Amino acid sequence: MPETDGLLLEGTEEVRIRRNVELARHCRFGVGGPADYFVEVRSAADIREAYRFARERELACFTYSGGSNLFFDSRGFRGLVVRLIGGGWSVDEASQVINVSSGTDLPLLIRNLARLGIGGADFLGNIPGAVGGAVVGNAGCYGQNIAGMLISAEIYDIAADRMFTADPGFFEFSYRHSRLKYDPLHMVVSARLQFAEADPLETLQAVEDELQLRLAKHPHNSRCAGSFFKNISREQPAWKLITAAGLADSRVNGACLSDMHANFLVNDNDASSDDILALCRMVQLCVRDRLGIVLETEVRYVGQCGVEEISLSD
Ligand SMILES: Cc1cc2nc3c(=O)[nH]c(=O)nc-3n(C[C@H](O)[C@H](O)[C@H](O)COP(=O)(O)OP(=O)(O)OC[C@H]3O[C@@H](n4cnc5c(N)ncnc54)[C@H](O)[C@@H]3O)c2cc1C
Repeated sequence: MPETDGLLLEGTEEVRIRRNVELARHCRFGVGGPADYFVEVRSAADIREAYRFARERELACFTYSGGSNLFFDSRGFRGLVVRLIGGGWSVDEASQVINVSSGTDLPLLIRNLARLGIGGADFLGNIPGAVGGAVVGNAGCYGQNIAGMLISAEIYDIAADRMFTADPGFFEFSYRHSRLKYDPLHMVVSARLQFAEADPLETLQAVEDELQLRLAKHPHNSRCAGSFFKNISREQPAWKLITAAGLADSRVNGACLSDMHANFLVNDNDASSDDILALCRMVQLCVRDRLGIVLETEVRYVGQCGVEEISLSD
């Protein structure tokens, strides 16, 4: 199906709603069929316009940002997919508080701030994706997470068509979790994050060193969405359980478990969403039957009408 230019959103500058856009090209996993409608937005005004467009046509809607923690159904999405991109950031140098749009690339932000002598968040420097996705999924590593830096966030309430400011308590954060991860009616538009003064060269070096660690241990540049399953605990990381269940190197068609790290499910040969789901369920069933432990997914699956839970079915 050809991708065609569609309508210009009213009241915005050059924001085009496109038709039949291949979602595989808009996520790190490289999996997803055509979205009926697709739009990239930067500002709160553009987000509102996109949702107005969907409301008027009674379209299902799905919103995301960096696309590094999800995959789409290979049959596509029957409605409007809204992607938050760019948008920018401002800094209060006296307090090291950053006000940043959701669509801002997180690793790039950390590096740009480091050059200004603003740091204290090296752990976020190599987590792919954008600020909005990081806040919603409470991204982090080495025992630190972005919730610890959040002062407040601007939220768009889709049902009421209004913006409001939320404090961290609103999110009910826990490990790789916030309540917005399961709430398609509230979008993070921007966030205020607390950073700290830091030496530029030391910060950039620390981020670079951590990248080298990732490259040595994970398939960091592969088509994937990071750790596929949540760890049970520090002592029981998902990769250990998957390996103990004898599943290392398992494969379903183009989807396989990485030989570098068993908790990275990789699209190494034109995997479909069904291949990923089948491999995911195989892992969940084997780990449950052999070890008595249920693995929960960290990665989100966007079905044809919205996010779907990947349930364990016999
Ligand atoms: C190689 C690799 C390594 C990774 N390493 C780590 C790691 O060390 N630690 C870690 O925590 N994660 C890691 N991840 C996972 C991923 O990078 C993080 O989860 C990241 O924060 C996701 O951000 P995103 O913008 O890409 O989210 P997306 O994939 O765009 O979205 C994820 C979910 O958040 C929702 N969402 C996104 N933006 C918004 C918004 N503005 N408002 C409301 N809902 C929104 C989406 O609807 C979706 O449900 C890794 C991924 C890869 C590919």
